[in-house]
Amino acid sequence: MDYYSSKITALIEELGRLPGIGTKSAQRLAFHIINLPEEQVARLSQSIIDAKKNVRYCNECFTLTDKELCPICSSQKRNHNIIMVVETTRDLAAYERTGKYEGVYHVLHGAISPMLGIGPNDIRLKELMLRLQGEVDEVIIATNSSLEGEATAMYISKLVKPAGIRVTRIASGVPVGGDLECTDEVTLLRALEGRIEL
Ligand code: ZN
Repeated sequence: MDYYSSKITALIEELGRLPGIGTKSAQRLAFHIINLPEEQVARLSQSIIDAKKNVRYCNECFTLTDKELCPICSSQKRNHNIIMVVETTRDLAAYERTGKYEGVYHVLHGAISPMLGIGPNDIRLKELMLRLQGEVDEVIIATNSSLEGEATAMYISKLVKPAGIRVTRIASGVPVGGDLECTDEVTLLRALEGRIEL
C-alpha cells in the first residue's frame, strides 16, 4: 500500500486493526477522516482518548462505566437480589433496551471455551461467586446459546445451585448460536419471561 503517503498508510493500518473493518473499509474511513474539518477530527481523537482513560469496570457487576459503581448497581429502583449473568457489556445493553428487566447484572467478559483455551479463571466467575455470598434470590443465566455460552451456563449452575440459590436459564427464544445483542427486544423479553429452572 505504499502508493499512499506513509501517514495515510499508517492511518489505514490502524483502522484496519479494528474489529469488522477490512482493508477496503479502512481505506474508506481513512479518506473520510482526512476530508473532515480539523476540529471534528480533534473531537473524534479526543473522545477516543477520553473513553480509554476514564472507562473502568464497575466494582459490583464489572460492566464498563466511568464511576466506581455503574448507574444500574447504584440505583435504588433495581432489585439487587436478582442477578442476570451475561457475557458482555453489549448483552447487558441489549436487555436494558427492553426496559423491562428490574434486577441487576453480572458481566463475565467472555465465556468458557476449551477450544480457545479460555477457562473459568479467565472470565469474571470468582467475582460472581463473591457476590453470591450476599443476599441473592435468583441468578438468571443469559449467556449466548452458542456452545461456549451453554458450557458456561452449565458450569455456573453447578457452582451456584449447591448454595441454595435459584438458578434459571433464559428460554431458547434466542436463536441457537445467536448473539444476544443482535436479538430484538420482544424475543429477549420472551426469553426472559420463559426462563427455566436449572
Ligand atoms: Zn454495575
